[in-house]
Amino acid sequence: MATTFQQLKDNRFEDAVRIMREAARLDRTHEEHVAGYHVRTRVQNALRYIENDKLADKIRDCSRSARCQSLWCSDCRRTAADAIERQMRKRLVDDEDLYRILSGEVEIDRESDAFNSHMNSSIHHVSGYVGLVSLDADNVRKGLEFDKRRWKRIRERKHSSSFWIAGNYELELVNYRYLLQSTNPGSDKKQLQIAQLLKHSIDQGWITKGENIGVLLHWHAVSNADKRQLEDAIGTAYWLGDQRLYKSGSSGLYVQRLHASKSFDKNIQKLASYALKSATRYKHSFTGSDVGDELMLNSELGALIGLYHSIQGRSWRSLVLTHSMG
Ligand SMILES: [Zn+2]
Repeated sequence: MATTFQQLKDNRFEDAVRIMREAARLDRTHEEHVAGYHVRTRVQNALRYIENDKLADKIRDCSRSARCQSLWCSDCRRTAADAIERQMRKRLVDDEDLYRILSGEVEIDRESDAFNSHMNSSIHHVSGYVGLVSLDADNVRKGLEFDKRRWKRIRERKHSSSFWIAGNYELELVNYRYLLQSTNPGSDKKQLQIAQLLKHSIDQGWITKGENIGVLLHWHAVSNADKRQLEDAIGTAYWLGDQRLYKSGSSGLYVQRLHASKSFDKNIQKLASYALKSATRYKHSFTGSDVGDELMLNSELGALIGLYHSIQGRSWRSLVLTHSMG
């Protein structure tokens, strides 16, 4: 049977995943960490290491007429963050207008303390965890679909209050074999959470026992709901089986206040780009207790960049999370 172009493309990605999995099994010192001062250099090295030259070329040759759409390209990352911020701003219009009417101002003074303290206290940063998913596009899509169906069910319920939530999904690379072995006391909370998410994801069929690296599929968003409203609307929909995620609120989500010391616009701008990091380091160290930002291996970074590319969709559409209730 003739091999189609699509099959070739799929195989290439499968190769990257296979190389990455093999590398994860080996001693981590057998493969070089991504090197280079600039993210650009690390990205090129990582993608060429796993022989995804097509994507490496696309990112290298990104121009106004042919955008690469990779979050590891500084221009495209900015465009993606702007797109997420627009989604948030679309939702915020009514809340800002309500403030304007209540304050009696004709036009909002965005520099004023009154505006900033009102908006910073009425809008919250909310995060939710879906699972620890195998590093391949099909399983990440399954996780995303699961979460989208969950929101559909939540939306269809009767709600005692109306609110909105807007943000985006993030894929964070986690070497859980190392993380679960780690004796770093600071990682207790993360270890318990990872163990819970791993069990849940094995039950869901999103990852197989014995893999070492997974993608922590989660989202960050802003919402005009407070903790109580979210608890009422969401119930136990975010629980992992019969328990909520360790140290999360009773809804299973994290609800945080915006930084009171920053302007509201700055807070929104920061949150819109927060979940679109062009990560080349692990957030959690595995090999030592003193290093908090261990560099990924070339195979790991290459596979993560390729994974985003297969699932993000045109204009990062598949990463967007935006819902309104009531
Ligand atoms: Zn680009």
